[in-house]
Amino acid sequence: MSRIRQNNTNNESFICKHCGTTVVPILSGGRQRNHCPECLWSRHVDLAKGDRRCGCRGEMEPIGVWVKPSGEWSLIHKCVKCGFIRTNRIAADDNEILLFNLAARPITMLPFPVDNIDSSLKGLEKII
Ligand SMILES: [Zn+2]
Ligand SMILES: [Zn+2]
Repeated sequence: MSRIRQNNTNNESFICKHCGTTVVPILSGGRQRNHCPECLWSRHVDLAKGDRRCGCRGEMEPIGVWVKPSGEWSLIHKCVKCGFIRTNRIAADDNEILLFNLAARPITMLPFPVDNIDSSLKGLEKII
């Protein structure tokens, strides 16, 4: 396995493999980008966070949003090549429309009738 030199190890600009956008470093500095702010796709390059030592290099699709109890949002990324799943904190300039769509997806594609929720909520009201 040959080691491919990554051009974003020092938080430099890089070109997104998924949408072709030239991604510039986070202006506030400090944190490395781990996904493209335009399409939200990432790449499977880390074994441990930020080490860039994984040989997979598969594209990682944003499949959902995870909200911590603190209210902080993270993206859930799944590698299309090997299936690995990881979470990555969102950045201030991430595409808000795509974030919203991801967050809304489960609500707009319910696997059960909405009527069930209605009656469940009524049941909950009685308990509260
Ligand atoms: Zn992109
Ligand atoms: Zn992978």
